[in-house]
Formats: sequence, C-alpha cells, structure tokens
Amino acid sequence: MGFDIVIKDVLVVNHNGVKRADIGIKKEKIEKIGQISTGANIELPGEGKIAFPGIIDPHTHMGIPMMDTFSVDNFKTGSYAAAHAGVTTIIDFTVQNPGDTLLSSFERRLHEARVSHVDFAIHVNITNFYDNFLSDMEKLAERGAKSFKVFFAYSFRIPDELFLKVQERAKDISALILLHAENGAIIDYLIKKNIERGNVSAPYHGFSRPVFTEEDATERAILITEFVNSSLYIVHMTSKRALKRVEEAKKRGVRVFAETCPQYLYFTDEVYKKTDGHYFIASPPLRKKEDIDYLWEKIKDGTVDTIGTDHAPFTKEQKDRHGGIFYKTPNGLSVIEFSMPSIFTKVVDKKLPLTTIPRLMSYNPSQIFGLKGKGEIKEGNDADIVIIDPSYKKKVLPPYKSVSDISPFEGLSLRGIPMYVLLRGHFLIKDYLFVGHDVKGQYLEQKITFD
Ligand SMILES: [Zn+2]
Repeated sequence: MGFDIVIKDVLVVNHNGVKRADIGIKKEKIEKIGQISTGANIELPGEGKIAFPGIIDPHTHMGIPMMDTFSVDNFKTGSYAAAHAGVTTIIDFTVQNPGDTLLSSFERRLHEARVSHVDFAIHVNITNFYDNFLSDMEKLAERGAKSFKVFFAYSFRIPDELFLKVQERAKDISALILLHAENGAIIDYLIKKNIERGNVSAPYHGFSRPVFTEEDATERAILITEFVNSSLYIVHMTSKRALKRVEEAKKRGVRVFAETCPQYLYFTDEVYKKTDGHYFIASPPLRKKEDIDYLWEKIKDGTVDTIGTDHAPFTKEQKDRHGGIFYKTPNGLSVIEFSMPSIFTKVVDKKLPLTTIPRLMSYNPSQIFGLKGKGEIKEGNDADIVIIDPSYKKKVLPPYKSVSDISPFEGLSLRGIPMYVLLRGHFLIKDYLFVGHDVKGQYLEQKITFD
C-alpha cells in the first residue's frame, strides 16, 4: 500500500514527547508513524528537521470593526499570513452588530470565513444582551460553536450578575466561556482623567489600564465561575498579578484556563515611549519585564495553557491617522505571521523543551476547544504538520505576508520558520513558499465535553 506523502526520518515533536520516525500520509490523514519502507508519491527528507503538529491559533480577529476602521486582514489574507508561521487552524470570533442575534452574527462569520486557507472554528462574542440570548447559546452549541466570549471592559461589558447567568447556561450546555479580563469602569475613568489633563501620548494607554484592573477582573470572574462550578478561559493574560489568581484557582480545582500571546512574552511598556510607540497599542497593554519572566515560568510549569496571537493587524496609516493619540489609535497588532517562529526562537534561547510548543500551541488548544483529530502527530489524526529546519534563521523585514505593513518583530532574527506546512495532507508551504492558493479550510465543530 502506497502513501501519498512520506516524511523520512524526522524528529517528531508532540506535547508528550520526541521521537525519530517516518510519517506516512494518505488521504488527508496520518496513516502511519514508524519505519516506512513502501514508496510514496512524494517523499520529503526529514533528516535534521523537526516535525511539529500544525499550530492551532485560538485567538484571531480577521477583518473586524475597531473604532473608526477595520483590522486589515480578512480570512484569506490572514490565513495566508498564518500558514507562513505553521498555523493550520484558527479560532476567530463573531462580531455582533446592532440588531444581530448570536445566531445571525455566527452565520455571517461562517460565511466570511469560507475563503480561509486554514481550518477554522468560531468563538461567539456576546456583546449585546437581548432577550433570549441565553437560549440562543444552546442553538449555537448544537451548531458546534461551544465557546462564547464576554468582556469585563468596553461599553459592551457584561454586568456581574449576567456573567453569572451566562456561566450557569454554559454549564448546562457544556460550553466554555472566554473572558477579556479588564475592569472597564476603572479604565474608562482613568482614560477620561488622562484626556482632561492632556495626557494623550502612547504611554498613557498603559497608565490608563493598570495591572490591578486585569487582576480584579480575573479574580472576579474566577470567583463567579467557582461558585457556578463552570469553566473559564481567560484570553491574552499579561501580568504576574493576574496569573497568580489563576494559579491559586487551579490549585483549588477551579476549571480555569490561561492564554497569553507572543507580544506579551517579548515586549514591555517601554516601547510606548518610542516615536512609533502607538504601533504597539493593544489591550491589555504591554507590561514589565518581571511580568514577562513570570509568564515564561508559568508556561514551564503548566499554569499557562495556550498561546494565541490576538492577531488584529492595522497599517501604519491607520495607526498614524490620529497622530498617536492613545485613545483614538486602533487596538491590535499583526502577530500571526510570526507566531510559531517567535515562540520557537524563545524556547530555544531559554533552553526549554521543544514539547513546549506543541503543548501550548497545538495540543492544549485542541483539547480545550474540542477540535477532534487536531493537535497531535498521531495515527488517524488529520495530517496537519509543520516541518522546520532548526538551523535556519531569518531577519524579520517588510514586505509582510499580512496586509499590515507593521510587525512588532521587525528587525529581530527568528528561527522556526516553516519549510513545509501541510493542512490535511495538502501543501500550504513548500520550500518556504506558499503554494496553497487552492487549499480550502474547513469549519470545525467543537466537541467540548466536561466531566
Ligand atoms: Zn482579541
């Protein structure tokens, strides 16, 4: 029996271990891992190379409205940029426009995502609390959308008692609640105060969102989740103080998951002082070196569960449009194009185990969000595989694959840039070049179950 593709003698790195083997692929699936002597249509030499499971980015924002503009990557360009970083699955968010139900926002997002070159699942944002939205959550769960995001910040933040009701409903239907954890009331007041005093440069973005607002929102959400005995996933965690609350909760047995992002593992709030400091404006803001160090420590010990990018790219023109005034600058960074390379580079520098990458960027997201057949190089799973040459290094410079002309990583030398990327056995990247123009991503239903 022949294989479609065989990767010969490659170092296979999964969340739970490393081994040297051949990988045989047939009809979109990993058919065999071991020694393969039969022929294949395509044979890839794997010696000296590393094979990781395809990266699952659980946090992207393709083409979303932001202030007076839109993030510039749609599902087509964003997935194109993503493939260059080894990403084979993304989980993006719905946008609930005025008048939208959760269902109508979901249907629209599903339609927009059909041009994606990578597989995708969808989180459902709850930003408008119309009558009966709680019963619509159940209808979405039946469609495979079982993760719902709410916000403790912004004008559309959810009141505490409604958050409790959402958690009760989530528990009933085995869904997972995602949270943007910042105390919006405090932040709104601090922004207003800074504006009144004429403090509008980029550093005041950070000063208006102090770390205790993240800690407070994190702890409040955990306490409510613990009371309901439901589940909570906190997106883009940035700080030691907030993470400590998660750590304590996990020790008490609360089902809480923590996500962080490459940008919070690379940059401190010092960058806001630079002339292009407003290019780094995103919420929560960048923090201090001790926060970065703590995040890495907690990546090591398993407190941090996942790394997502929060990819929300804007161009220089969009970021510059309001002269760098912090509260008018669109929030978000272009990150997905270097997601795995940025983390691979740090993992190597810090001498962390290579399994760290598939654990946080493939396996854990697949388990938390119920993506069957994903997250691990395993017989029977989808053939989502990234192959890198660990000796290859490249300086980050424009032009970029994203529509954005800014990268926070610009000027840095990164390793871990994929040589080959396979999505269900189809080449997205071959010899560092994108060849996946005809490859279509599929919608993935989430099979979340909690015991
Ligand atoms: Zn986000």
